Amino acid sequence: MTHPFLDLPPLSAARFASVEDRVARLLGTEQDVVIMQGEALLPLEGAIRGTAGPGSTALNVITGPYGQTFGNWLRDCGATVIDLAVPFHTAVSAEQVRKAFAEHPEIDFVSLVHAEAATGNTNPVAEIGEVVRERGALFYVDAVASVGAEPVLVDAWGVDLCVIGAQKAMGGPAGVSAVSVSARAWARMTANPAAPRRSYLSLLDWKERWLDGGRKVLPHAPAQLEMLALEACLDRIEAQGLEAVMGRHRTAAAATRAGAQALGGGLEPYVHDAREAAPVATTLRTPAGVVASGLVARALAADPALPLAAGGGALAKEMIRVNHYGPDATPETVQGCLAALGAALAEQGLTVDPEGARRAAENAWH
Ligand SMILES: *Cc1c(COP(=O)(O)O)cnc(C)c1O
Repeated sequence: MTHPFLDLPPLSAARFASVEDRVARLLGTEQDVVIMQGEALLPLEGAIRGTAGPGSTALNVITGPYGQTFGNWLRDCGATVIDLAVPFHTAVSAEQVRKAFAEHPEIDFVSLVHAEAATGNTNPVAEIGEVVRERGALFYVDAVASVGAEPVLVDAWGVDLCVIGAQKAMGGPAGVSAVSVSARAWARMTANPAAPRRSYLSLLDWKERWLDGGRKVLPHAPAQLEMLALEACLDRIEAQGLEAVMGRHRTAAAATRAGAQALGGGLEPYVHDAREAAPVATTLRTPAGVVASGLVARALAADPALPLAAGGGALAKEMIRVNHYGPDATPETVQGCLAALGAALAEQGLTVDPEGARRAAENAWH
């Protein structure tokens, strides 16, 4: 008997290229899109190591944990790094980026995370892109947590390197990822003697061995199962319509926010301004004296399938993450999370209004 995962025909170059084309459409770009055979950290690191070097000055925006990682890679490449860190309860503004350019006109690279699943904020990429373009710097954006949850418009926003992964709002696999690369970004990489070459991190290898040859022969055996899963994930998004998928995430975020506010018990949205809250995931601040990781553990004891987590590192004390993305961007999951959090708060002796929370969340879906 043939096994559905094991006895597969080879994945053709044409099929691989067609998945790339569909990702390009999803991102609204005519740029080259390279599908990388690994989790999103592969193109995130490869794109930085390909374009940054001792001659460059990078403005690294930190609105969550990934920004910190990018700064470390940039420094490791020998770039001069200017960190622009903003508190995790807010987004960065285009004005702050403009000010950084005024203070450091030598900035030639900007790294930014679009939406932060880890801290629950989303940054105004379109407005920041305008500033970056005016200054002629290269614009690198991590859209792993935004793609599928909110618009990602690579060409309209002037993004030079846009990295996505399928494992968040796209509801797909984590083992493959993609990056769009502008002509300017290719030129920067080609001119960078330190850019990875003949390396798994190398985007230039994909350019030379795949794109420049007209995508006829794959440079190595593709991660076949992940490619098929990504293709299936695109099928599903295209069938449902990207607008509908994004709408589901937007509503899940609004419902979670409204529900948490109505629940009371001292729980509050972590991101102050709703316009800066990411559609992909909602973060909540626990009241003084309630440790977030403990509260999440109680809620998960009641229902281990709920997409609840405490914040990472020091945030585990005060931040709850409701990861309502992909298959979890539904009214049932949001209601389940609110009910479990309400019960956990009540167990700690706090006064909550679970029925009010349920109604507030329900209203958001209508
Ligand atoms: C999830 C995510 C990634 C991918 O990293 P993992 O730690 O493997 O999940 C990268 N960037 C952002 C902004 C993410 O939310």
